Amino acid sequence: MSDNNTSARNLSAPTAAVIVAAGQGTRAGGGMPKQFRPVGGIPLLQRTARCLADHPEIDNLMVVVGEGQETLANEALIGIEKRMRIVIGGADRQASVRAGLEALSHIEPAPGIVLIHDAARPFVPHAVIDSVIAKAHEVGGAIPVLPITDALLATTDDHSLAPGPDRAGAMRAQTPQGFRFTAILEAHRAALSEPLGAAQDDTAIAARAGLPVHPVPGAEENFKLTAPGDFARAEAYLASLRETRVGFGYDVHRFTDGDTIKLCGVDIPHTRALAGHSDADVGLHAATDAILGAIGAGDIGAHFPPSDAKWKGADSTVFLNHAAALVGARGGEIIHLDITLVCERPKIGPHRDAMRRRVAACLGLSLGRVSIKATTTERLGFTGRGEGIAAEAVATLSVAREDG
Ligand code: MG
Repeated sequence: MSDNNTSARNLSAPTAAVIVAAGQGTRAGGGMPKQFRPVGGIPLLQRTARCLADHPEIDNLMVVVGEGQETLANEALIGIEKRMRIVIGGADRQASVRAGLEALSHIEPAPGIVLIHDAARPFVPHAVIDSVIAKAHEVGGAIPVLPITDALLATTDDHSLAPGPDRAGAMRAQTPQGFRFTAILEAHRAALSEPLGAAQDDTAIAARAGLPVHPVPGAEENFKLTAPGDFARAEAYLASLRETRVGFGYDVHRFTDGDTIKLCGVDIPHTRALAGHSDADVGLHAATDAILGAIGAGDIGAHFPPSDAKWKGADSTVFLNHAAALVGARGGEIIHLDITLVCERPKIGPHRDAMRRRVAACLGLSLGRVSIKATTTERLGFTGRGEGIAAEAVATLSVAREDG
């Protein structure tokens, strides 16, 4: 975003979002209110809050939770840094939204636009939020909708089916619904004095108050998690956003005079040492190249040139951690690392567990995700003649899917 846009936004009233997360229901299974259930290992509420918090035009978040859910909410919202508050909701959705709006009415400066969003829609795309904010600025109210492609039917008194409303005039409503803040706050206050039940939805409350609400395109991935099957759909959707990558690395270092070699981060007493600009840890060099290979990030020499005196004698865990950090920076994770050391001597077996523990600790992986193997070449070739040690490594990663 350009500086011009940033200053223009700062000059206007802030945009706020109310996240309605006050449900007590466990209909979706999992033994706890669904907004705190993990999806892809992260609480549903955290995913939803992050979607909104990460949007550059949203300045304040108001999260409405049920009585007694404050601790769960605080835990679920760890790391959400945008100006955020948690408030306690009411007996139903309408009362909870009103509680969120009333809490927002005390912030300075007052919001210009407010988005009201269901916690159970964790995958709302920024493009939908963009459209809702823009349309709410333009006409006063906006709701994301999708067309209905299936025919609609209605049940009859004798439990058979009759043709339902014409689907051409019907739409599926999503959230966030966006409104001018003062207008929707007044509409909710006005609805307080009328019988509850008829107008549960904010668009209905806005319409009853005569506020214009215009449709903007919703998104299929902005689906609502309600039933247990919806959580399985959410897991499948998350999996569809990722792909598995495999990278390969190979390295050789020759023996030289000395009495210790470093292999996979572990010092091993030996009758020789390995020659190299760094600590010559051939295993970690192969592993680093395997990780870099899986994300197409070149090779270890490109990141740590041997010509650079800075890396003389360097601990090769620095290289490994750098490659892992590059993976983390693009939202990826290392699933598994398999290293094979090729030499006649030293014997690797006695040091294998220490090497696994060292590499696993370095990368923050469980032991089961790190494999160290060793082989000889039956006294054939340079490793067979004891001239040096070779290492091969295969890294398996999960990264965000790259299209095209
Ligand atoms: Mg090397």
